[in-house]
Amino acid sequence: MRKKIVAGNWKMNTLPAEGVELAQNIEAGRNEVCECVNFIVCPPFTHIAMVAQTLKDSTVELGAQDCATEAKGAYTGEVAASMIAALGCKYVILGHSERRQYYGETSETLNKKMAQAYANGLTPIYCVGENLEERDAGNHFAVCKQQIEEVVFNLTEEQFKNLVIAYEPVWAIGTGKTATADQAQEIHAYIRQVLAEKFGAAAAECPILYGGSCKPSNAAEIFAKEDVDGGLIGGAALKTEDFLAIGKGFSK
Ligand code: PEP
Repeated sequence: MRKKIVAGNWKMNTLPAEGVELAQNIEAGRNEVCECVNFIVCPPFTHIAMVAQTLKDSTVELGAQDCATEAKGAYTGEVAASMIAALGCKYVILGHSERRQYYGETSETLNKKMAQAYANGLTPIYCVGENLEERDAGNHFAVCKQQIEEVVFNLTEEQFKNLVIAYEPVWAIGTGKTATADQAQEIHAYIRQVLAEKFGAAAAECPILYGGSCKPSNAAEIFAKEDVDGGLIGGAALKTEDFLAIGKGFSK
């Protein structure tokens, strides 16, 4: 049985007090949703300590949205994996398309960040996905395969057991356009097959989340698909009701 995960990527939204309130509300409503759903929230770095305090007795887990390529030192503005782990983060989102697109993150960068995450006991939520041009040209399989081969294939078998993948078609992120449930299933199954080429049976245990304008109205249909194990949620993660309602989307 793979983990069912609903992870909220707050991106660069909320002030600290708003973030704490959001976490409090999610915690307060969490018991309306099956315990089998693992909720994760990923606030901005500046809020992590306060949100960790808010969630200290909660089953809602904490993640960060990124970490540095280096362990420590003269890297002005960077935040080390050890720092976020020390604040109570269990997860870190790596390779989000916004980081790849706006901050030039390459597979080389991401290999270093993955190494830092594992060295500090964090579970990476590694994002892959094609842009619209690549989808229209029918290259979405090749793009996802390359993003996996260049990073995930460098992991050890032990590390791979602690990995979450998020398939996020760039054309669906923040656009209101969602992949259909069948499109999501098709590529999730493909991603699992690529993972199995390298990691064999362990690929069947790796949670693969869907991300891209996931909301209460479409989550249930997408999550019902065999190879979809939950969602990485952007916009809808900022509204407690929507975030919890997405968690209620699991029927399997
Ligand atoms: C995301 O950025 O990870 C995301 C899925 O955003 P949204 O849900 O807003 O499309």
